[in-house]
Amino acid sequence: MFDLRGKVAIVTGGNGGIGLGMARGLAAAGARVVVAARNRDKSARAVAELSALGPGGALAIEADVTEERSVETLFAQTLERCGALHVLVNNAGINIRKPPQEISLEEWRRVIDTNLTSAYLCSHAAYPHLKKAGGGKVINIGSMLSIFGASFAPAYAASKGGIVQFTRACASAWAQDNIQVNAILPGWIDTELTRKAREQVGGLYENVLRRTPAGRWGAIDDFRGIAVFLAAPASDFITGAAIPVDGGYSIQG
Ligand code: NDP
Repeated sequence: MFDLRGKVAIVTGGNGGIGLGMARGLAAAGARVVVAARNRDKSARAVAELSALGPGGALAIEADVTEERSVETLFAQTLERCGALHVLVNNAGINIRKPPQEISLEEWRRVIDTNLTSAYLCSHAAYPHLKKAGGGKVINIGSMLSIFGASFAPAYAASKGGIVQFTRACASAWAQDNIQVNAILPGWIDTELTRKAREQVGGLYENVLRRTPAGRWGAIDDFRGIAVFLAAPASDFITGAAIPVDGGYSIQG
């Protein structure tokens, strides 16, 4: 039910943070993991680590998911080097923390392109290969800001709300092809992204602790299990879902 041997999985932003956490789960379950990100050194370190975790091995393909050409190359190289594609994890993401009245059009576009348009570009490129494989899995990464508003993250919240609706659209379109499309909504997880947020938003660390029933911030390894579940046959009748992985943050009134 949770065996990923023989499966090929692309993880965008798989060289660090939550993407690396998910890649660790997929690799340990037997998948061959393609780490797709921009920073070569970080990707090389991730590949070395992932290769030791399971039989499938790992490789890095340098990619900027905001660029159509770069995404095309990522998929062409994956198919050339791995022969097939079964799982796509749309994880790459950024945030620019400014109130709506201060964010520029260039900043707005950068966030939307990285967090939302990238998921469209990669899913669009993945579809024919997943279909050809007889089915597959797409895992999109949303956020608590897929649900809640936040004064300091207008473009980020718009992108993450969009991710959930894009997930539902693809899920209903591709169910007939045996492709399941689901979203994970991480709570507050200790990564480079939120380290920056903690510097910029006073009291954030304590506020998150106070509000999270589990009483802690999340760690990247909290994403190993959900990634395996949503990539594996265990979740074959689950599609279009948006699953919080948040220590209970989103159930608090
Ligand atoms: P990190 O900053 O640690 O990782 C972001 C990853 O995205 C990096 O691997 C980076 O690699 C990659 N990336 C960024 N831009 C691009 C690009 N243009 N092309 C390719 N890769 C890119 O952040 P997190 O791990 O925290 O975030 C991962 C996802 O989880 C994001 O979608 C984020 O919004 C989401 N999330 C995170 C939460 C948290 O609390 N941390 C909470 C909710 C959601 P490189 O720089 O090498 O390209």
